[in-house]
Amino acid sequence: MAASVTDRFLRYVVIDTQSDAQSPTQPSTEKQKNLGRLLVEELLEIGISDAHLDEHGYIYATIPSNTPKNNVPVICFCAHMDTAPDFSGTNVKPQVVRNYQGGDIRLPGDPAQVIRVADQPVLKDLIGHDIVTSDGTTLLGADDKAGIAEIMAAAEFLINNPDIRHGTIRILFTVDEEIGRGVDKVDLKKLGADFGYTMDGETAGTIEDETFSADAVEIAIKGVAIHPGFAYGKMENAIRIAGDIIARLPKDMAPETTKGRDGFIHPTGVSGVMEKANLSFIIRDFTEEGLKTKEALLESITQEVMKNYPGSGYTFTVKEQYRNMKVVLDKNPEIVEYAVEAIRRAGMDPVRGSIRGGTDGSRLSFMGLPCPNIFAGGHAFHSPLEFVSSQDMDKAATTIVELAKLWEERA
Ligand SMILES: [Zn+2]
Repeated sequence: MAASVTDRFLRYVVIDTQSDAQSPTQPSTEKQKNLGRLLVEELLEIGISDAHLDEHGYIYATIPSNTPKNNVPVICFCAHMDTAPDFSGTNVKPQVVRNYQGGDIRLPGDPAQVIRVADQPVLKDLIGHDIVTSDGTTLLGADDKAGIAEIMAAAEFLINNPDIRHGTIRILFTVDEEIGRGVDKVDLKKLGADFGYTMDGETAGTIEDETFSADAVEIAIKGVAIHPGFAYGKMENAIRIAGDIIARLPKDMAPETTKGRDGFIHPTGVSGVMEKANLSFIIRDFTEEGLKTKEALLESITQEVMKNYPGSGYTFTVKEQYRNMKVVLDKNPEIVEYAVEAIRRAGMDPVRGSIRGGTDGSRLSFMGLPCPNIFAGGHAFHSPLEFVSSQDMDKAATTIVELAKLWEERA
């Protein structure tokens, strides 16, 4: 599969599929469908006859079951076609460093862009690999065109090797993942899968079955406004109240002071005038309990501050964003266990990880499609220093094939 996966990858990254959070349309950018149309063509060529692009820009396709067993679950493999708005995805010129021998990689299009071993220690594990980079003037788009190429190569391999037994496999390629709308229009009924795997992680061998749980909090403050010349003893300036709240936030509970499994309270927006002010926060933790504790702390800080402003008031609104998918995956432990076994069979030491963020999979898991995240091999996502190893993409494609075999074998 090695040649197939790399050829495909090089074909897909030159198509600009950047999504746009400001756009109200679905998909957010029409150009994402250019890749979509190519993929449908290629799927049809492979022999996957139901492949199609729907009106929302998603691709659905099926590798039919070839086993006499009728109790093999329907598995979905999922990847996203868009690239992040953080850095240009126009006119990507992929470069291949063949048989990498170590050391920093200077990118030819911009001498200031250097992939340094000091920043990317994983390079030490990639000696002898073929490493794909951009020319330094754009991102590469390994996030997540590596995942797309891996699923495509695995699909072709399964179709061409009918002696490998597997159940029904569904392919789902989404749009607008990078702007948080990746699964807004997914039709789970039409998909008809029992569970899925996103191919959208990083280092070879990793599987992620945990994400943050996430809430947003809005604090609306109403102060007491009065002409500053007559304000003595009366004015309660909402801007000062907002400032007091921010000043009291615990400094050791911020994104910049936490890592690993610790969550945070993070102010993301402040606006106001004398009579009213608004504070926006995001709250993150790996447990529901941790979220609630942090929200209670934020509200008690607000109450404390408000004691000094008896004429003022506030509202405190919590909005759920997404939840740690582990809660769902723990009810179906084989989904992750089989992936761990497939990674081992593909020749790697499996590593289980957690994501300090969310994935399409965390939302899919709570929509009814349990969905951990398997590595796609890319590194330094959303930047001109993005890179991926051909050999690691091949290992990801092999992992998909091994997973398909495993679910049939054990059914
Ligand atoms: Zn991604």
